[in-house]
Amino acid sequence: MYNPKSKVATEFIDDAEIQETLAYAAAHKDDFALIDQILEKAATLKGLSHREATVLLECDDPVYLDKIYQLAMEIKQKNYGNRIVLFAPLYLSNYCVNECRYCPYHHHNKHIARKQLSQEEIVREVVALQDMGHKRLALETGEDPVNCPIEYVLESIKTIYGIKHKNGAIRRVNVNIAATTVENYRRLKEAGIGTYILFQETYNKQAYEYLHPAGPKSNYAYHTEAMDRAMEGGIDDVGCGVLFGLNLYKYDFVGLLMHAEHLEARFGVGPHTISVPRVRPADDIDPQNFSNAISDEIFQKIVAVLRVAVPYTGMIISTRESQKTREKVLHLGISQISGASRTSVGGYVEPEKENTSQFDVNDNRTLDEVIGWLLDLGYIPSFCTACYREGRTGDRFMRLVKTQQIGNCCQPNALMTLKEYLIDYAGPETRRRGEQMILDTIPLIPNEKVRALTVQHLADIENDQRDFRF
Ligand code: SF4
Ligand code: SF4
Repeated sequence: MYNPKSKVATEFIDDAEIQETLAYAAAHKDDFALIDQILEKAATLKGLSHREATVLLECDDPVYLDKIYQLAMEIKQKNYGNRIVLFAPLYLSNYCVNECRYCPYHHHNKHIARKQLSQEEIVREVVALQDMGHKRLALETGEDPVNCPIEYVLESIKTIYGIKHKNGAIRRVNVNIAATTVENYRRLKEAGIGTYILFQETYNKQAYEYLHPAGPKSNYAYHTEAMDRAMEGGIDDVGCGVLFGLNLYKYDFVGLLMHAEHLEARFGVGPHTISVPRVRPADDIDPQNFSNAISDEIFQKIVAVLRVAVPYTGMIISTRESQKTREKVLHLGISQISGASRTSVGGYVEPEKENTSQFDVNDNRTLDEVIGWLLDLGYIPSFCTACYREGRTGDRFMRLVKTQQIGNCCQPNALMTLKEYLIDYAGPETRRRGEQMILDTIPLIPNEKVRALTVQHLADIENDQRDFRF
């Protein structure tokens, strides 16, 4: 029985409710009076129910699709302004006891090298990331209680926060590790993590069990209820996502929204971020084997409708996608991207040394190229990490997004962190374009006091001071 407040996975992700939603959406896909009403509601920035959103997902009328795309961009602009936040993944360990059919780290894959970074190697990786200009990381590990216990992850976080190299600093460490216990989530919270990220992969229990034939991750309920345990452990920013291509995308789209509704219903805080990865080629993995692969057009529609349906959430796209695809979805509401990523263990220092990567990267540009590209597209590249450092997490953060106030912080913070990047790391051409973006944007800061303080801090940054934030 569907119950968004239930603690039980199969009740808040209820198969019958998903099937009924899909049938309802298929029956109403050409009901333009209803679609108009849904779009009107979405334009108020209050979000949509999973049923309403699925009607939009089913709609294939080109005029209405254009309306959805336009609204998606408007909502992103209203909530976050035109900044795009940058981050990089850092792979710590690829030991894994699970058997996920779509991931080269699965336990029985004998052709990849297994590796776990020592603390000294972590320092070298992080220095390489800092020297590019990164300030925000997402830690990635496989699941292996013996080779990669929680103590190792906690020690690694401490190491990373402690590295001071030139003007660099990692100011926010997000963590993407396997579903774990309330106690371990509490320890991660105490270690000062930003967001806890865990992808559901697919919400369809039957497909999930087929895709995860062995290992702790094969337990659908334990995995699906992980965000509840994370929140019980005090982590109030969680990042959700599915791996599109594993299962019917419409089913997972509904599941993802029901998960967001569940977290709102139970904790008053929906997902801080939603990621939209698609299956990619990798060692021992051929995307052709996944018959549910989705086209670029459908992918764009998913991004746009998620943006419209969950207006408060940050939306992330990684280097799994090509420059071209990333460019398209940036215009549909994406607010965070990775840049210059290496998906192998130790890959920032020794990119080609060993075959340890989780997937093939589809966008191989340097961070400086990515920054230049964002500037050309009219976005402000941002290395901001202010919110969690100022205690703006969970419901405090959500209140600010839902009242369209967070943009008042995002915009000046983007300018100040961009300024740091331009001075410390940018090539001359990127610096020129970035300085122009800063000059053009300062007059647009609406609050006079904030504007004056931003100008002051930009001058302070020129004078070698760092780390200002609103
Ligand atoms: S997806 Fe995660 S849990 Fe599954 S095999 Fe890969 S690293 Fe292990
Ligand atoms: S102010 Fe908060 S929401 Fe805005 S970019 Fe910075 S950390 Fe993100």
